[in-house]
Amino acid sequence: MTEIEASNMLVAIRVRPLSQKETSVNDKDIIRVEDHLLIVLDMNDFEDRKNILHRSREQRYVFDRIFKDAANEEVFQSTVQDLIHPALSGINACVFAYGPTGSGKTYTMIGTNDDPGIAVLTIREMFKQIESDTDKIYEIKISYVEIYNEAIRDLLIPNSGYLDLRDDPIRGVVIAGVSEFSVESTDQVMSLITAGNKRRTTEATNANQTSSRSHAVFQAMISQRDRVTDTVLDVFQGKLSLIDLAGSERGTVTENRGLRLLEGSKINRSLLALANCINALGDKTKKGVFVPYRDSKLTRMLKDSLGGNCKTIMISNISPAASQFEEIVNTLKYASRAK
Ligand code: ADP
Ligand code: MG
Repeated sequence: MTEIEASNMLVAIRVRPLSQKETSVNDKDIIRVEDHLLIVLDMNDFEDRKNILHRSREQRYVFDRIFKDAANEEVFQSTVQDLIHPALSGINACVFAYGPTGSGKTYTMIGTNDDPGIAVLTIREMFKQIESDTDKIYEIKISYVEIYNEAIRDLLIPNSGYLDLRDDPIRGVVIAGVSEFSVESTDQVMSLITAGNKRRTTEATNANQTSSRSHAVFQAMISQRDRVTDTVLDVFQGKLSLIDLAGSERGTVTENRGLRLLEGSKINRSLLALANCINALGDKTKKGVFVPYRDSKLTRMLKDSLGGNCKTIMISNISPAASQFEEIVNTLKYASRAK
């Protein structure tokens, strides 16, 4: 049995390399990794520390997985790979890329042609596993939408209008009218999401600022037919959702209490609701605790993929740079709470 089969929730940290810009201003790498242990070095060991950091001490965190200097392939193999078989067997699963803007969320989920991200690696692995199944014929359909200001738009077609969510007795939560592409190759998947990414909400004046507030949700829906009778096996409708979350910098709150207090303020509603749902689901002291799925579009969309038998992987992304100390600590605290 793999870990994710045993616990349903896996928390990973991914540390991206120092960027050229960070290196050029002599920013320092303050992250050390020893197996499951992540150490944020004491800022007092760095001569060029910023004033606000003068009281920092070494901090240690433990996570299920920690990646530093890892390619997407390695991240995939020791995390999402274990979700492919359950998803093909009809179990819903979610993978979240969490972290501040610039920390590597999109790189992890989408990647580049040289280092394809989790979305493409997921589909590649699905193809590999279904080819070896001689009893059933599988169909994989993908959709890719954006949630921006609590409105859902299709990223796979130009000029999409706003889409609504609907509960379907067989398929679970569906996005009414969303385009679903039946895919046959990983190249096709890469070009669909590359085109989709260009349609993410951006603002001419400050593209990064705005796109950082949108969530991109890539979903792979798997359906099965019996090879002999050619009947659809409705019971086995698995769905794997990969979510490139909005930047966490606006909504980072490290204490449960803070989440409630900040409600209604300008911070991202879906990000907040997700944190509340994950907290409620992870609360092992209270059985049958209320999970506030209805509080946002994102959590409503994922209602049938979070909790219960569903598998969740949280990949929290951080920069290793000393100048990002506060965001690093906020992200690590958030990720620690998800365990
Ligand atoms: P986010 O989506 O969290 O805002 P990005 O994925 O766009 O962040 O990453 C910010 C920058 O860092 C990009 O230029 C990206 O190519 C680079 N980057 C992120 N993660 C890695 C990585 N693991 N290896 C190499 N470059 C990375
Ligand atoms: Mg991004």
